[in-house]
Amino acid sequence: MLADFSNSKQADEEIKAVVPPISNPAPDYDTLLWSEIAVQEYKIQLDLRYASENNFVEEQLYECPRCFLRPEAAKALYQVQEALQDKGYGLKLFDCYRPTSVQERLWEKVPNASYVTPPHKGSMHNRGFAIDATLLDAAGTEVDMGTEFDYFGRRAHHDNKDLDQDILKHRALLKNTMAEFGFKHIRTEWWHYSFRGPYQSPFKLADYQWSCEEEH
Ligand SMILES: [Zn+2]
Repeated sequence: MLADFSNSKQADEEIKAVVPPISNPAPDYDTLLWSEIAVQEYKIQLDLRYASENNFVEEQLYECPRCFLRPEAAKALYQVQEALQDKGYGLKLFDCYRPTSVQERLWEKVPNASYVTPPHKGSMHNRGFAIDATLLDAAGTEVDMGTEFDYFGRRAHHDNKDLDQDILKHRALLKNTMAEFGFKHIRTEWWHYSFRGPYQSPFKLADYQWSCEEEH
């Protein structure tokens, strides 16, 4: 015969006894809307340039480096990383979701649509569907992509084939692997990819600000 613990204090205690202790704190963001990229678990390197002064506006625009994407884009990115690892490579990320208010600050610094997407239009970064990335070799060292991140010139273009064979090979590997999992390139920046997979949320501009509290 089953004991009836309904409405009893004993029932609560029984339940507590079987629930394992939580080892990780609960996410400090809405996991239905966002995923924070699990860089340690997937061995993805993070060098968020806008969280430092090492960027083309030479100003720190993120209070702290955290990489967020829309959940479906994050899932696809993990698949990219696994496919690259199978070939002896990996991802390093320079930028992920970028709040629209940061886009406004970039635009104030550089009001030139050749370099910065106007905030009213917004980039796929502002929608949580874009990343800027390069390739790492098996030792975790950046491979030669021909230019630095955020180099604005013809040498960074995908249709510039006047480059060493290994540079073309690296760019093609990144581009083809990203494409396999739903990320599209743009012609003028070898590092930029936007997720256009079949199961995405509407492309809304976002201004979610992630927390920089220590407890996270
Ligand atoms: Zn980008």
